[in-house]
Amino acid sequence: MPIYTHKYIRERAQELIDRFGITRPPVDVREIAERLGLEIVEMTQDTWFFGMLLSFHDEFYIVVNKLLSEPRKRFAIAHEIGHFQLHRADMSYTREKTKEYVHREADVFAAELCMPAKMVKRQSAEWYNDYRMLAKIFEVAEAAMYERMNELGLVRRIGFGWNSVDPRRV
Ligand SMILES: [Zn+2]
Repeated sequence: MPIYTHKYIRERAQELIDRFGITRPPVDVREIAERLGLEIVEMTQDTWFFGMLLSFHDEFYIVVNKLLSEPRKRFAIAHEIGHFQLHRADMSYTREKTKEYVHREADVFAAELCMPAKMVKRQSAEWYNDYRMLAKIFEVAEAAMYERMNELGLVRRIGFGWNSVDPRRV
């Protein structure tokens, strides 16, 4: 399987945002899935299970764990849309442990899809880099928004109280 650059992956996500005319958060990932012909099936699963892309008789389905919070469901759906856009020609990654990197690629795609750089930068300027507020606006988990803003250089290391706690530890 090809290994994609993060730049390429982000462009592929951005391309969907543009194609479907999405201009403001929250990005409707369910609608994107639907418009790509992907049916979303919610099923109760163990808590370690987030989602999965399934191919059956030339149709693709996204299975998502019903027990997740809505922000986590949205990220899981976006992750599976990433697999669909990047990896559907070779689904062997679902069986082979050596292909773990494809999930990282799907995560990069999902982060860009749920939290497009341009929109995050705009909202961040408006809300004084408050990741909690942005997490609400984009309907994503706070830890995911923190990580995304950190990646975009929007998290201040020293200073305000709100960023003194690493949400990934909470
Ligand atoms: Zn995956």
